[in-house]
Amino acid sequence: MHLRPVLFAIGCIAAIFAAHFASAAEQAHNVILFVPDGLRAGMVNAENAPAMAALRYKGVDFRNSHALFPTFTMPNSSAMATGHYLGDTGVFSNTISSGFPVAAADGSVTPFIENNAVLGTLDEHFSGNFLNETTLLAAARAAGYSTAAIGKVGPTLVFDHTARAGDNTIVLDDSTGTPNGILLSKAVIDALEASGFPAAPPSRGENGKAGDAQTAGTTVANVIQQDYFADFAGKVVLPMFKARGKPFLLVFWSRDPDGSQHNQGDSLNQLTPGINGPTSLAAIRNADNDLAKLRAALEAQGLAETTDILIAADHGFSTISKESKTSVAAKQTYADVPANFLPPGFVAIDLANALALPLFDPNARNAPVVENNHPKAGNGLIGKDPDHPDAIVAANGGSDLVYLPNRDSKLAAKVVAALLEQDYVSGLFVDESLGQFPGTLPLASINLSGSALTPKPSIVINFRSFTTGCSQSTNCAVEIADTTLQQGQGMHGSFSRGDTLNFMAAIGPDFKSGFVDQAPVSNADIGQTIAKILGLPVSREGKLAGRVISEAMPGGKAVKFFRQTQRSKPAANGRRTVLQYQMVGATRYFDAGGFPGRTVGLH
Ligand SMILES: [Zn+2]
Repeated sequence: MHLRPVLFAIGCIAAIFAAHFASAAEQAHNVILFVPDGLRAGMVNAENAPAMAALRYKGVDFRNSHALFPTFTMPNSSAMATGHYLGDTGVFSNTISSGFPVAAADGSVTPFIENNAVLGTLDEHFSGNFLNETTLLAAARAAGYSTAAIGKVGPTLVFDHTARAGDNTIVLDDSTGTPNGILLSKAVIDALEASGFPAAPPSRGENGKAGDAQTAGTTVANVIQQDYFADFAGKVVLPMFKARGKPFLLVFWSRDPDGSQHNQGDSLNQLTPGINGPTSLAAIRNADNDLAKLRAALEAQGLAETTDILIAADHGFSTISKESKTSVAAKQTYADVPANFLPPGFVAIDLANALALPLFDPNARNAPVVENNHPKAGNGLIGKDPDHPDAIVAANGGSDLVYLPNRDSKLAAKVVAALLEQDYVSGLFVDESLGQFPGTLPLASINLSGSALTPKPSIVINFRSFTTGCSQSTNCAVEIADTTLQQGQGMHGSFSRGDTLNFMAAIGPDFKSGFVDQAPVSNADIGQTIAKILGLPVSREGKLAGRVISEAMPGGKAVKFFRQTQRSKPAANGRRTVLQYQMVGATRYFDAGGFPGRTVGLH
């Protein structure tokens, strides 16, 4: 007779208990964002990267992943950190036009922004937050989470760039311990000391050697430096976070394989093996070992079950070509460039030539660039007065940016006409406020027109890409690149599928197990998804946002997606810029863009 109420009571208690545990477990979820910089999706298999292949197999396998174009580190770090596209974050490339001389970049108006001092200057100049969106780590810190960003200088700080005092978010990168380093709190310094680790990471050493046109670059991966970063994350930071008993968000940015693929000396002046030689493969394994170390540390701390791991490479990768038949710059002779190869700064030189205007080097205190010389880093100021140039070229690699400070439509038409004649160009995207130009598509079509605070480029130039022939074309893409690196070394930044197809995977309590996601996803979605998992407010200054990858989360339904192609009107010479993209609702995913026949993956 009394059994029923007792059972009912037990049921109630069990239900309350279960609810309590469920909410406690939900609150306790942690997130690690692991970024293997420059890891091509197609290179991950049990042989090259066993830890990543296993995680992808057991967790979520994103088959249709996307880096954002321009496919560089800083733009994509800004997308991951905010959940927004580049038109909102204003990080249009790794080297941008700042609109003012940056003292921390030796007075250049075209600073390379993988630099903590430069990032600080941009924040000061642009209302205290040059991204104009709140980053994930800033939001997590404000919500009481433990936060850390560890790894490659530049993208690491992006995740909490407005908090530089070191008293809350732990920021440890290449420049820790130097004047450009972010300070560490006393608690972190004490923990470092107690664990017997040096107070600052080692340099890249041999891995940092890029070589030159006569000397091959490095043949070693960035193992020594990254071992320090991985050990610091696993043996110092995770135990500290565990002891605090609060949920955490940790970003680990692995410079490899990017740094080694850029600098590798396996292929000097040759297209093969290019970025598929032994040094690049060792670099992929190096990043994989770091992931394995982090997972082992989670296990050791008893955090594996409550921690989600998202892996997202910032971009893919390609081998560099320096060949052109149309470039005037390639016909000059340079002390440091093989005969008939494109020098660094070929766009700046060719445009100055086409416009019949002088060229100055912002990386050499605006010194004039005379014949048979090239701008040091490839950047150029075109016009009679370098302090008020008519055009600014920010050289980046697989794509370059052109800024027209006077917003002159006639000049834009001349620049477009000159670029349409070059065999190294594959696709031009022009600021729609300058007008419509046959052969080009508007910046808005690739989500580069938004709420950005930094100067918006007038023209984005994509360079030609092709393959050396392999079963998966995105694994052996080659691209023309505006860089001081050599033919046969590695670069990215183009709108080929080789550079947009980044590696992505996820595992943990907020993801399905053994799930293959065929829907398009991007680095902007990474930011949105992490915010969702941690219950953080989403930054909404701009409207160009990614989406939560709900289909990969428990109970999530499949999303509908479709493919579209946009074609420009033909230019006088018949060239059309073509854009292939996918859509989930209103969210765009850019596969490839360029001139047909000149971009890998553009059909
Ligand atoms: Zn890179």
